[in-house]
Amino acid sequence: MSAAVRMWKRRAYRVLDDLDDGRFVVGSWRIGVAVSVLGVPVVEDEFGMMVDEHDGEFVAVVMVGDDAVHLVERDDLRAIERGAYCSCCGQVGCAWGSEQEEDA
Ligand SMILES: [Zn+2]
Repeated sequence: MSAAVRMWKRRAYRVLDDLDDGRFVVGSWRIGVAVSVLGVPVVEDEFGMMVDEHDGEFVAVVMVGDDAVHLVERDDLRAIERGAYCSCCGQVGCAWGSEQEEDA
């Protein structure tokens, strides 16, 4: 288990090193919107240990250009190229944000 945990809006997520730098679309969503992966939600158990919530089945993602967290199945993520989506609203195919997204 990776030790890296990130905080986002006062929730903790275990960082998934293999997914952390990528951008993805969610296969089951009807709209093509790029998301980045926060990681697996973790909660503190009665011993103060960080354990996976939902048995690690779900991965928390955030839409590019938004900050709402969505839980999706890891198998539902499809990797996309950086630049294949709008850096402003995150939509694949939107012509507005053709420039490269800046890393925060
Ligand atoms: Zn756009």
